[in-house]
Amino acid sequence: PCRTRFAPSPTGYLHLGSLRTALYNYLLAKATGGQFILRIEDTDQVRTVPDAEKRLVEDLHWAGLSWDEGPDKAGPYGPYRQSERLELYHTHAAELIASGKAYRCFCSKEQLLHHNTISHEQGGRTGYPGTCRSISPEESEDRAARGESHVVRFRSPAEPTRIQDLVFNSFRKKDPEEDFVIIKSDGFPTYHFANVVDDRKMAITHVIRGSEWLLSTPKHVDLYNAFGWEPPRFAHVGLLVDMNQQKLSKRHPGVDVTYYKDNKILPAALLNFAVLLGWSTTDVKGDVMTLEDMVKYFRPRFTKGDIKVSMEKLSYLQQHHLKRLSESSAPQDAAAQREYLIDPLQASISREEAARLANKTEASSIPPALIGQLVPDLQETTSPDDRRAYLQRALQLTWQLKTPNIPEYMLATKYLFWQIPREALTDAYSQHGLAHARFSSSGGTAAALRAALAIARAVPEEDWGREGLIAELADTLACVVGEGEGQPGRKGGYTLMRWVLLRSEAGVSLAQFVAALGKEEVVRRFEVAVE
Ligand code: GLU
Repeated sequence: PCRTRFAPSPTGYLHLGSLRTALYNYLLAKATGGQFILRIEDTDQVRTVPDAEKRLVEDLHWAGLSWDEGPDKAGPYGPYRQSERLELYHTHAAELIASGKAYRCFCSKEQLLHHNTISHEQGGRTGYPGTCRSISPEESEDRAARGESHVVRFRSPAEPTRIQDLVFNSFRKKDPEEDFVIIKSDGFPTYHFANVVDDRKMAITHVIRGSEWLLSTPKHVDLYNAFGWEPPRFAHVGLLVDMNQQKLSKRHPGVDVTYYKDNKILPAALLNFAVLLGWSTTDVKGDVMTLEDMVKYFRPRFTKGDIKVSMEKLSYLQQHHLKRLSESSAPQDAAAQREYLIDPLQASISREEAARLANKTEASSIPPALIGQLVPDLQETTSPDDRRAYLQRALQLTWQLKTPNIPEYMLATKYLFWQIPREALTDAYSQHGLAHARFSSSGGTAAALRAALAIARAVPEEDWGREGLIAELADTLACVVGEGEGQPGRKGGYTLMRWVLLRSEAGVSLAQFVAALGKEEVVRRFEVAVE
């Protein structure tokens, strides 16, 4: 069994990249019957953001992750907040000092800066010049006892250390490490030191983290060696980049987990999205997975290189998870059904807003959550249960479009929900070249619509969606629409029917659509058109 941890610094909110590493660590622990630990690395007192820890915990819970031990969950290796473990770091630093593997450094920041400036000007090496390396233990004790301000530095090996990594295999820096600080002058440990001591003391077996930490790992391994401890296994997972191969910038809307929460992305869809940022499995077709699936198939084998964050992939996963949710009858899904399926239906946004969004072409700029809100009229006429059933049908139907593209998905969904007002229809007809005048005065089209309406009304409920129905309706429409027109025929009938029912030529298959829409709504739409 593996023991893993997620070790965020509370200097900001949860990022997509951190959620991903948290998830990988969680999965490795669960897949092996081990434990997953949350450890708060709050050693940088200056950069700590007051509510960051609370938010991290909330966001991780929201996403669906839980831990076996953590600041809010007592365990045998606590406390799980580094600021509460200072003594432990001091004991261990003292041990290294005693064995000569670390030493006190009394250089002031100004002295070091001065040295670096001169060295830089002369084209020499910057970094710690080793000034206090050879201070005798007696002098060191003495100066410390007199209260002289100092840090503790680790005496780094003269040769760079080769490290092993599950992603990078073997890695070694060109230059040796400088004598880096392990205890700062405020008495707090540095990240490197606390991280190593804690991973050891918390019996962590595997460390999965972002590749930005790879360059720190030789330092960590040096520390492990100095203590005579075996290091954990490391896996440094790839950098997240946007579609232009640029490091995910702070301005990318998807950097922050809050973005997904605010936009009503299902936690399950987000976890599914996150897990695919550097890992994949051939065991699951279409990549759609629940957390349980992930635990089942997870192996710590990761993608090499940068990882593209595709919001289209997210929208594809969101669709699948919405569909799954809409079909679930499990009691524990009821709250999510309300939040993600039913409430959005009731939330009304203006028709103009919906149209504006539907016309946007940049897929990634549209919050997928708004898909569910594109239903400005539905709540006026239906009961919550009807709405739910209706939504299920809508999702099942649009699902068949297999489009990961949000605008298309929205358009398709919109046709289902939109109770088309007469002005919109007549508008649509004139756009399409079926002149408004003809529609309203000649009576030709109106008569065709009335005939089609009569057919639709006459179909028994249980026969609804039967084969041939669409063709029959289209023919009825065609024979009248075609009168005096250049291109009569069934095709014209279909086109008209699309306008009547969908208000557009594009979108879902008409037969599937009519079946999914149900007799009542089809009849209603014909009625609106005939009025
Ligand atoms: N505290 C570090 C961070 O904020 C932890 C890195 C690690 O996992 O070692 O990412």
